[in-house]
Amino acid sequence: MRPCRVSPVVPSLSAPAPILDSHPGSFVTDTAAGSRLFLSPPHLSGGEAERLTDALQSNWIAPIGPHIDAFEAEFAAAVGSPHAVALSSGTGALHLALIAAGVGSGDEVLVSSLTFSASVNPIRYVGAAPVLVDSERESWNLDPALVEKVLVARAARGRQIKAIIPVHLYGQSADMAALVPLCERFGVTIIEDAAEALGATCHGRHPGVFGRAGIFSFNGNKIITTSGGGMLVTPDESLALHVRKLASQAREPAPHYLHHEIGFNYRLSNLLAAFGRAQLETISARVAARRAHFEAYRSALGDLPGIVFQPEAKWGRHTRWLSALTIDPIAFGADRESVRMSLEAENIESRPVWMPMHRQPVFASCEFIGSGVSDAIFDTGLCLPSGSAMTPDDRSRVIDVVRRLHARER
Ligand SMILES: *Cc1c(COP(=O)(O)O)cnc(C)c1O
Repeated sequence: MRPCRVSPVVPSLSAPAPILDSHPGSFVTDTAAGSRLFLSPPHLSGGEAERLTDALQSNWIAPIGPHIDAFEAEFAAAVGSPHAVALSSGTGALHLALIAAGVGSGDEVLVSSLTFSASVNPIRYVGAAPVLVDSERESWNLDPALVEKVLVARAARGRQIKAIIPVHLYGQSADMAALVPLCERFGVTIIEDAAEALGATCHGRHPGVFGRAGIFSFNGNKIITTSGGGMLVTPDESLALHVRKLASQAREPAPHYLHHEIGFNYRLSNLLAAFGRAQLETISARVAARRAHFEAYRSALGDLPGIVFQPEAKWGRHTRWLSALTIDPIAFGADRESVRMSLEAENIESRPVWMPMHRQPVFASCEFIGSGVSDAIFDTGLCLPSGSAMTPDDRSRVIDVVRRLHARER
């Protein structure tokens, strides 16, 4: 896919896809037309126009319709979950998962510190207190030993943590085999943030299906997109029904408008569900493409001193949604920011690893259970262009910049 300017007129469905800057909240900067290499731009499967046309012709232009039902069923089958609810964002899915799990004012919720802010914000939406927990090195995800430490300490004071949100970072599942029994022992509800991990495995299952609920994102930068959207999966039919109701303004099944609860307008539109179905069809090819990028980066850069790639944990397949690595400035001869700026000078977008939540001003008052791992990963970590439509030539541009910088600085 060639980058292009975002057209001010309505594009035809066969036009090249507009490229969004790949992280939420940042700006489209398509400077030297045609040559900017983005971190993780949207990638059309080819089947979207047909699905959208079907939705248009059927006149289901609404947050209900046959494509929503089909997208939910197909998604549930793809991840091996009994139930799926299509929603307007991953953030909204996490919000409703917390409400449906009974998390509210005064509760404490454990969550990975090394993540995007959308993993933590919904805890605040429901009036609960986030307790930020550090990562382990094997997967860069929630450290079960630290989680156990908190749960034991709280239990000793007669207190209980209400819920935990493990995040499956960059497509690598957290250590669910350690976390699930721990949470069972202490009665903690698991809600998985699998926003970045569609297509991953954990002990042969899909991350997102281990807890009371799991959430996924179809934001423009994710492995599949609906331009914006999300999905909640759960083994619990009553939870799925409750979330579907909450997302539809909490309307009770009555001919008049009847409400027992505060509702939300969080349903996905039938048009976007149609789009998502076409995207979902190609999920395995997308995972394969991203993994191939990672392997190419590793074989071309892995021998350079000071470069360490995010490991693939022994318990499951990493999707390499983003290829992430750390750069030891002394051994490599240049620090992460120099590498990022050198790539930028060649019109290549790369990004620091997520800034941990315990270092965000907005969460400064939250308790943090730390070991230094996420700080070290953030200080030296970089995500390289990883889009599933990226070509081997594009990838070589990235590799050349990094190798040249190393050669110059050593
Ligand atoms: C993208 C993302 C979200 C939020 O999903 P949206 O669909 O953008 O609301 C939540 N958590 C993580 C880890 C993410 O990367």
